[in-house]
Amino acid sequence: MAQKIILSGMQPTGRLHLGNYEGALKNWVALQQDYEMFCCIVDWHALTADYDKTELMPDRIFQVAVDYLSAGLDPERCSIFVQSHIKEHAELHLLFSMIIPIPWLERVPSYKEKATELGLDSYGFLGYPLLQAADILIYRADFVPVGKDQLPHIELTREVARRFNSLYGKVFPEPQGKLTKFAAIPGTDGRKMSKSYNNHITMGESPEDTGAKIKKMFTDPQKLRRNDPGRPDICPVYALQKIYNADYEELYAPCTTGELGCVQCKSKLIESLNDKLAPVRARRAELEAHPDTVYDILHQGADTARKRAVKTMALVRQAMHLA
Ligand code: SF4
Repeated sequence: MAQKIILSGMQPTGRLHLGNYEGALKNWVALQQDYEMFCCIVDWHALTADYDKTELMPDRIFQVAVDYLSAGLDPERCSIFVQSHIKEHAELHLLFSMIIPIPWLERVPSYKEKATELGLDSYGFLGYPLLQAADILIYRADFVPVGKDQLPHIELTREVARRFNSLYGKVFPEPQGKLTKFAAIPGTDGRKMSKSYNNHITMGESPEDTGAKIKKMFTDPQKLRRNDPGRPDICPVYALQKIYNADYEELYAPCTTGELGCVQCKSKLIESLNDKLAPVRARRAELEAHPDTVYDILHQGADTARKRAVKTMALVRQAMHLA
């Protein structure tokens, strides 16, 4: 039986952080065992906000590719490629733009929010979810791994597929969001880890820099002195202990009684975090030392993805009498 297809992607914003690793990449690595995976680096999407920083793009793409591979994505099992290397994404996006009413795009929840927050008003920004639909449907994907907040984007993709199919005959399956177990990763200030908050620890951070960041990390604000009782349930350091320290439960009671101080607690986290990340960092260093290997993988991935995209476009053109 043919394997089901998954499309996933991230924007090339530079080095990925632990939030990206725990929240998405680890899931992708698990999924590559059972699905045909297409893992895209969506550089055209990054242009919606960074259209004036294109000189940064080559290195950012390289760093994301290195992070994909060091997290464990296997180019033998999944196609890793750059979106702009497959021009069919753009062609499909253009054709979709002829059949999708503008209000469908304006009502995507993140549109108004981000337009105000980031001051974006370009045509490309409005069409972002439609390009995303093209990214997914060009591979006729069955599933897309997403967080809950991205479900409206998948719903739009499903609507696009339905509209196309009703106009021209069935070409596209309606993909489903694959909600995966996302570990909530707090940043060093206790908010969600994010590059825009500058509270992140990158996957390739050195052990020393990781230590320095954890030492400055927010804890329970009521635990001001070593012997004050703490509340692990609201402490971001403890949230990371749960992920990286196998003995995290042993820290709970001593924190609540004041027996354990934050400095000592953080030292344990630094040790276990650096231990867990050591293999990822070793793979990262190896790949950074051999950039040609990374570029070869991206070219191979693009070749596989292109074959699939070309087939889909042949079906699309035939259905639309454009063949
Ligand atoms: S001892 Fe650890 S868990 Fe408790 S408040 Fe301090 S850092 Fe957080």
